[in-house]
Amino acid sequence: MIDDMCISCSEPITNPICYRCFLKQIHLWLYDKNFEKDVINEILREVRKEVFVDSLSETCCILCDDEYVAVCSYCVFFRAANVLKRFGVNNELLEDFLEIFNYQLGHASYHL
Ligand SMILES: [Zn+2]
Ligand SMILES: [Zn+2]
Repeated sequence: MIDDMCISCSEPITNPICYRCFLKQIHLWLYDKNFEKDVINEILREVRKEVFVDSLSETCCILCDDEYVAVCSYCVFFRAANVLKRFGVNNELLEDFLEIFNYQLGHASYHL
């Protein structure tokens, strides 16, 4: 069986996690950092727009087993980080964000 490719970077998707599960994790992180509820909702709406894509992939999310995954975790967090940047999240927090998710997903590093 061949791994499905990320439609954004063309790398195989090794940790398929769907946008819903990603949004949940991002939500928790924002909540943990004491962002205002309104801001959290706005950020999540923007991130959703960025990361949601129609998928022809047959790779199911490893967390919920309910959604197909077309974009790899690296690309999703990269896009999410750019949204956070647009919302004026400072570099210190951005690094924290990327470190946590890097660590969880086993990626070497992000280059924003
Ligand atoms: Zn990718
Ligand atoms: Zn999922």
